[in-house]
Amino acid sequence: MRIIKKIDVMRKFSLAEKKKGRTIGFVPTMGFLHAGHLSLIKKAGKRNDIVVVSIFVNPAQFLPNEDFSAYPKDFRKDALICREESVDVLFYPGRKDIYPAGFSTYVEETSLSKSLCGGSRPGHFKGVTTVVAKLFNIVVPNTVYFGQKDAQQSYIIKRMVSDLNMPVEIKVAPIVREPDGLALSSRNKYLTKGQRAKACFIYKALKIAEKRVKKGERSSAKIKAAIRHVIEANLRGEIDYIDIVDTENLKPLKKLKRKVLMAVAVNVGKARLIDNIILKPGR
Ligand code: AMP
Repeated sequence: MRIIKKIDVMRKFSLAEKKKGRTIGFVPTMGFLHAGHLSLIKKAGKRNDIVVVSIFVNPAQFLPNEDFSAYPKDFRKDALICREESVDVLFYPGRKDIYPAGFSTYVEETSLSKSLCGGSRPGHFKGVTTVVAKLFNIVVPNTVYFGQKDAQQSYIIKRMVSDLNMPVEIKVAPIVREPDGLALSSRNKYLTKGQRAKACFIYKALKIAEKRVKKGERSSAKIKAAIRHVIEANLRGEIDYIDIVDTENLKPLKKLKRKVLMAVAVNVGKARLIDNIILKPGR
């Protein structure tokens, strides 16, 4: 496995591989890899000749009061994991390489980014789309793998790729969970033992809501209240949002119809935990 830190070396590598007719599968991450990331790496390996994983904790997607400097890191372990997974290139650029002095161009999606996490983290997705667009230009991948865990992010990236005619294919992989249902996340490291034990109630709340929908409930307010009840009764945390949105435009819905995204964000201690389920309630 090659560890590449320089942008021009990365791009040269990719262009040379493509010239030989090889396809490049790319998994962008912020590191501190876990089984969720691994599922994306494995998928990339199955369908591509070359797998590139990037690790870059992107300052542009953190708000000033967020955990940018505390974000968990373990590059040696991440490199070992990538080596074990037969990753071809680990791209590990420095902050100044990605954002040199004088950097002043951003990519912003202006519709899907308004709701859910975009509502409570203004500017977050502008940071995401900017860095992802840059990484696409540097890695020149054929296919890029994202996780359903960050559902809104994957919708926004797909929209950016379509709106800007970027020549890449986006694949979204299912959420990998702990046995008790908690979605794997690098931020789970912030949880104390007690918080970790209760954090599974976020997913349990979503599953209870899903059951109510399957039984015929179509009122968004009632479903959201059920989710809130389960979370508040079991978890000491501050609910950021509980929302049910249309998967076409990510706008909140009063009544469930067609395909919907049911998503929650809860601050538990130092960890901001997000989770979601997609439902197809029917009419
Ligand atoms: P991150 O390092 O948190 O920025 O995540 C990098 C990629 O891994 C993103 O596309 C995430 O959606 C994805 N990811 C993170 N956690 C999970 C998970 N539990 N299951 C599947 N994909 C995940």
